[in-house]
Amino acid sequence: MNANYHDIIRFLDQKKVLLVAVSKTQPVDAIMELYNAGQRDFGENRVQEFREKQEILPKDIRWHIIGHLQTNKVKYIAPTVALIHSVDSWDLLVEIDKQAKKHNRIIPCLLQIYIATEETKFGLSEKELYEILDNPNFKDLKNIRIDGLMGMASNSNDLELVRREFKHLKNLFESIKDTYFKENENFKQLSMGMSSDYTIAIEEGATMVRIGSLLFGKR
Ligand SMILES: *Cc1c(COP(=O)(O)O)cnc(C)c1O
Repeated sequence: MNANYHDIIRFLDQKKVLLVAVSKTQPVDAIMELYNAGQRDFGENRVQEFREKQEILPKDIRWHIIGHLQTNKVKYIAPTVALIHSVDSWDLLVEIDKQAKKHNRIIPCLLQIYIATEETKFGLSEKELYEILDNPNFKDLKNIRIDGLMGMASNSNDLELVRREFKHLKNLFESIKDTYFKENENFKQLSMGMSSDYTIAIEEGATMVRIGSLLFGKR
């Protein structure tokens, strides 16, 4: 564990930014150390690991899915997932809706937007985002709730580039909030920022940050 994790938790608390502690690959005792410090939101990117950890860890943990999610795996997380940050296709959204209906619940989702200049990251282009929002069947998806947007900035030392990417996501967020989500008071979350760039993300309007290595130490 990073000895300073209490300071990070306190800083985010003061900023009223939700900390999603990214616990992928981390052992249960490290997760429990954060849990005992009051942390309740944890993020995983693999469905198998999500299920194993959820089974043995305290039931009041809110488990987030933050990584690319395959359609055929949605059924495994649908009963309990607190928030899916990484919705990156129409088909995935339809499947989440279908599985949520089976469990008689509404699953909160974020639409992941591709904002980086790298080729490797998942996420919707703006064109794909508007195709989803303008899909005539969008309003029929009664068992999903769109709570906001998620994005990952470039993995770069150029902090001005990173800042521009976050600014861009924030502008997109405000623009679709005004045009598509005027009636939806749940559309208010902007999940951006990781260990290397969370302070910039908060300056640019993040409401949630996803931090792993800075809390737990290197994976
Ligand atoms: C691993 C991961 C993080 C956390 O990364 P750190 O650099 O360890 O803070 C955040 N978001 C996503 C989508 C991740 O996969």
